[in-house]
Amino acid sequence: MKKVLLVILILLIHPFLLGSQKSNYLMVLSMDGFQWDYPNKAATPNLDSLAKIGVISEIIPAFPSKTFPNHYTLATGLYPDHHGIVLNDHFNYPLQEWYRTSDRKAVEKGIFYGGEPIWNTAETQGVKAATLFWVGSEADINGQRPTYWKKYQHDMPFSDRIDTVVSWLKKPVISRPRLILWYLHQPDSWGHQLGPENPEILPKIQYLDSLVGIFCSKLQMLPIRDSINVIITSDHGMGQISRERVIILDHYIKKEWLEKETGSSPVFMFEPKTVFVDSVVFHLGKAGHLALWKKTEIPKNLHFGSHSNIMPLVALADSGWSIYWQKDLEKEHYLGGTHGYTPENRDMHAIFYAFGPDFRPNYVHEAFANIHLYNLMCKLLKIEAGINDGDLKKVQNMLR
Ligand code: AMP
Ligand code: ZN
Ligand code: ZN
Repeated sequence: MKKVLLVILILLIHPFLLGSQKSNYLMVLSMDGFQWDYPNKAATPNLDSLAKIGVISEIIPAFPSKTFPNHYTLATGLYPDHHGIVLNDHFNYPLQEWYRTSDRKAVEKGIFYGGEPIWNTAETQGVKAATLFWVGSEADINGQRPTYWKKYQHDMPFSDRIDTVVSWLKKPVISRPRLILWYLHQPDSWGHQLGPENPEILPKIQYLDSLVGIFCSKLQMLPIRDSINVIITSDHGMGQISRERVIILDHYIKKEWLEKETGSSPVFMFEPKTVFVDSVVFHLGKAGHLALWKKTEIPKNLHFGSHSNIMPLVALADSGWSIYWQKDLEKEHYLGGTHGYTPENRDMHAIFYAFGPDFRPNYVHEAFANIHLYNLMCKLLKIEAGINDGDLKKVQNMLR
């Protein structure tokens, strides 16, 4: 009798001895620049069917709505102001080093990335993670990496990416990742090139939708299919721009007035040379169709302005407007669409679909800020979240 009781007791506490109770698997796909409204305009039968079996919502990017700040916000639940990737290219003042997305060494250097990305939260709690090209996942952050990760290869065909993710799920259970984050760099470039209002974008969206269909059907063939949660989302949307709505910086300020500057339309940061601060503020302030803020005076709702990597002045064009240095305008081929505007601009919002055993079926969730995704992922993985800016309450209604 005593022996039987002991066995029952061991069976009851067994999951806790092993660490956390096993969760379902979690796949998170980001398709860059997938504006929330694209599926309403293009034929997207696969995404539409996901909305029926699961959750559909609209995800709101953090400011500035650029790729690197937002992918790292999705991974950490922190505003860019708190994780430090404040723009794609930025100067890290404490390190006195540039972070540039084209600089492999910088992108792979962990010290640039603040906060705790989800793959580290998972790994420290015994949950294996895999990443395929997610911003930050190529770096050793706080001495840790996902179990499986790859260096960014822009040219890796999308079909190979699907197969890589599926092959990870086919690993023996002992080495199989429970969390996978993966990335496709489209429809961002198409959106830049064509503009979101151009009908030529629609077949491109249809093509990406077909890839979603292929991915889901490959998941369906796995023995673990009933224990996979899937989230399909994006870092930001896309807004239509025009050659008629361009602010040329050289018309107001001189590059020589600046100690440092960075950014890409529609958002720039400037560190003027001390004697030129007033000149930059005065002249650029006259430009019209842009907001020019001192770092300390950025509107509170943008949650941007305290990090040491933010330069003393931030310029943001009005929605639909572009900012260029003359020399860049000449070589700029993309005057179709862009992103970087404030989260209030609905064109910056992106798609969100989620389905699987933990999600409610056929459920429309209100739009939510992307800082909340991190807590949602932690909840789904049954792990404890690190410090972050999100709130599970804002998204938990989408769960069963
Ligand atoms: P943007 O539209 O300027 O905000 O940035 C989009 C671009 O970021 C895409 O075209 C990708 O090629 C690039 N990108 C995304 N993730 C990575 C990465 N991990 N390493 C290098 N480039 C990346
Ligand atoms: Zn992007
Ligand atoms: Zn882009």
